[in-house]
Order: sequence, then C-alpha cells, then structure tokens
Amino acid sequence: MTGLSQPMSPPAARPIAPPVMLARAALWAAVGFHLLVVEVMFALYGTGKNGILTAAKFFGLHAALLMMLQLTLIARIPWLDRRIGMDRLTAWHRWIGFSLLWTVVLHGSFVVLGYSALDDAAPWTTFFALAAVPAGLLGICAAAIIVGIASVSFRFLRRRLSYEVWHGIHMCVYLALLLGMVHQFLEGTTFSSPVATLYWWALWALVLGALVGGRVILPLWRNHYHQFRVAAVVPESDDVVSVHVTGRHLDRLPARAGQFMIWRFPGHNRWWQANPFSLSAAPNGRSLRLTAKAVGSTSAGLRHLPVGTRVFAEGPYGAFTSIHQTKPARLLIAGGVGITPVRSLLEESYVPTVVLYRVPDLRDAVLLAELEALARERNALLRVLPGRTGPGNAPFEPQGLYALVPDIQHRDVYVCGPPRMTEAVVKSLKALGVPGIQIHAERFALA
Ligand SMILES: Cc1cc2nc3c(=O)[nH]c(=O)nc-3n(C[C@H](O)[C@H](O)[C@H](O)COP(=O)(O)OP(=O)(O)OC[C@H]3O[C@@H](n4cnc5c(N)ncnc54)[C@H](O)[C@@H]3O)c2cc1C
Repeated sequence: MTGLSQPMSPPAARPIAPPVMLARAALWAAVGFHLLVVEVMFALYGTGKNGILTAAKFFGLHAALLMMLQLTLIARIPWLDRRIGMDRLTAWHRWIGFSLLWTVVLHGSFVVLGYSALDDAAPWTTFFALAAVPAGLLGICAAAIIVGIASVSFRFLRRRLSYEVWHGIHMCVYLALLLGMVHQFLEGTTFSSPVATLYWWALWALVLGALVGGRVILPLWRNHYHQFRVAAVVPESDDVVSVHVTGRHLDRLPARAGQFMIWRFPGHNRWWQANPFSLSAAPNGRSLRLTAKAVGSTSAGLRHLPVGTRVFAEGPYGAFTSIHQTKPARLLIAGGVGITPVRSLLEESYVPTVVLYRVPDLRDAVLLAELEALARERNALLRVLPGRTGPGNAPFEPQGLYALVPDIQHRDVYVCGPPRMTEAVVKSLKALGVPGIQIHAERFALA
C-alpha cells in the first residue's frame, strides 16, 4: 500500500474514553441509579394489601420502569444517538420490549390472584369485577395493547408485515402509555409516601419530556428553521438516484459525514412514508445529498421528485461517524448502495485511508467517478471489487481482507453494505483480531 502515510491535517485530540463507552456507561449508570432509588422506595413504601398484591405492585412498578427505559431508548436524544447509534438503541429497545411484555403479564396475573385471595372469589369473577372499575379497565386495555404490539414484533410475524403496517401498530404504544398512566394515577397506591410519589412522577416527566423533545419539538423546530427543499435530482444509474436538498442556515445543522436522516417528501409521497437515507456527501453547510437505490415505491419514486418540493427531514442520526475513530488510520468497506455513508466519510477523511467497494459488476459501482476524485484528493487507496462471492472471489474472508489490507489491525474499520456482507466482514475482522472498538458498522436496518 503506497501513498497512505500522510494525513491531510493533524488527527483530532483523543477523547478520554471512546464516546460509545462513555455514553453506555452514562446511560446504564442513570438506569442503575433510578432503579436503586425505586427499589428502596418500594421496600419502604410499596407494601400491598397481601403478599400477592405486593408482588403485583412490584411487577407493575418494574413494568413502568421498563416502559420509561423503552421510551428513553427511542427518544432520539442526540447525545445518545451520536454515540451509541440508533440501530443499537432500537435493538436494545426490541429486547427490553419482550421483558416489558412478561412483566405486564405477571403484574396483571398477580393483581387478579391477589384480589381473588383477598375477596375469597374465583379469579375470573375478580377479573370481571376489576374490569368494571375505570382504573382496572384502563389497566387491562393498556396491557392488552402491549401484548398485541409485542406479538407482532416476534420475528416470524414482523417479517410478514410491511414496514408501514408494523410501524402503525407500534404507534399504538402511545395509547397504551396514556391508558397505563391514567390507570396508575387513578390507582394512586404506588407509594404510600408523598416524597416517593413526587419522585416517581418527576421521573415520568423527565422521560416524557425527552421523548416529546427528541421526537416532536426538535424535528418540528429544525424543519421550520431550515426550510428544506429539493434543489436537484440526479440519476446515478438505472436504479439509483441522488437528491440534493438545500435550506436556510444549513451550517447550523449538526450533521456529520456518515449520518443519516429520515426523509419525507410531503405532496409527493403520503405523509406517513418516512424513509431513512444516509448523507452521501459530507455536509458542507450549503446543501445535503441523499443517494437512494430503488427497492420499493418510495425509493423508486424519488427520481420523479419535482425540484422545489418541500422536504421534512428528521435527524441527523447515527453513530457511523469519525467521532468513533480510535486509530490514526482507517479502512472503509462498502457493498452496493452501502457506499453512500462511506463516500461521505471518505470526503472528510484526514487520516490514511483505504476504501474497498464491493459490487456485483463494475457497472453497479455508483458514485465511482466522485470516489476516484476524492481518493486522489485525500491520498487514499480505492479498490473496487467486482463479482459475486464464491470460490476464488471472497475478498471479505479473513485471508482475503488481510491480503488487501495487511495492517488492518491498526485501523478503524467502517463497514456498510447488505446485512449478510456486513455480518461476514465483522466476523472476519474479529477473526483477524481487530478489536471491537475499532469496528463500526451501519446495517441500513433500525429494528
Ligand atoms: C440508517 C439507514 C440508512 C439507510 N441509507 C440508505 C441509503 O443511503 N441509500 C439507500 O438506497 N438505502 C438506504 N437505506 C435503506 C432505505 O431506507 C430503504 O431501502 C428504503 O426505506 C426503502 O423504502 P421503499 O418504500 O422504497 O421500499 P419498501 O418496499 O417500502 O421497503 C423496502 C425495505 O426497506 C425497509 N424500510 C422501509 N421504510 C423504512 C423505514 N422508514 N425505516 C427503516 N426501514 C424501512 C422495509 O422494512 C423493507 O425491508 C437506509 C436504511 C437505514 C435504516
């Protein structure tokens, strides 16, 4: 490998700890702290009318805590998102969702059993008696919605639903949240101490504030402030198109190369169609660019977007950025349209860089002319790797990667491509002994 030893500018100062570790530690420390406080409050002030109802309270309280954590993970808090990444946060959200399901089921079951023991009645008689009072009915409805949402999130069912249908069903969680909160409020028996009760509701206020701030207020404010519009639509190939977006004060949009935004084109698409696309050029303060491959109706329709169309964009999101660089050299690996964030990372690459671009055929290598020009400018080595993977053509097997980049262990590796390719690359990197902290993957998948 030649010509790769001269950085274009001095590397940025090293952070004290990798940002992802810092953010994880901060998040789990906050969770641990509040959990501890709630456990203490429960031990002191949470006793129910009998042992079973105390257990019911315990599960109810923890269901609420899990719900708070769930909402925090999807609140799109910029500090967490840039460091941990929306893909990882939504993956955690998915797994915690299943714990929430079982905690809700246990809470409901223990409530019924507890009251039936107290009243010396059959469980189903108690169930109908509970459903006859508003607090009980609201709780039952909230639990039923959560069970329904969790059921469609099981992999075999999720795969059968379109993204929009699944997302629409998932949105019912806000109804469950509202019903659950009114249920808690009407019950009014969570803690017997006013201070504990105040703390509990303050915690809820904090979580809901973060959620509304991150998902509603910030996007609305940014779109109002920046007034995004389509400036140009440029076909890159038969099935790939770039959309250039301008707006006001784009220099104040905290976007970084490698990030993505969730785009809506009202008037052209239906309002609920929102699709994530990475920035395929490093933000320059004047315009943004996305480059999309046609896989469904929205992405295919982008090439017909009229210039001047208003754009509603959420973000920027994602942790596939240079803030996670730990070494003074990098390897960028792209497969197919996964080149989009890689292209923008190359544009702002000021350390010795190698780019590997995997495509089925040379004709599929979109943005190639730009990549070649950038590679020249940045003194980077660009290798296009055409062909289908098979015997004799497996560049991302450990030995193939090592042959291409012998100093791979001393580089940060950024990989973006089809899920199977990305998984294969990550596996090979681990086999080659590249530490996990140096591996950064964008999977083009959020849940
Ligand atoms: C973080 C991220 C960055 C991406 N960047 C790019 C990019 O730079 N260029 C590019 O060509 N593609 C990118 N994608 C993929 C792109 O989002 C989908 O191809 C696109 O949304 C398909 O929409 P469609 O309506 O045309 O097709 P559909 O047939 O509706 O969907 C095709 C596939 O895309 C998924 N999808 C649709 N809408 C969404 C959504 N809102 N969120 C998550 N997944 C969705 C569906 O689950 C389905 O698997 C990215 C995806 C993610 C998650």
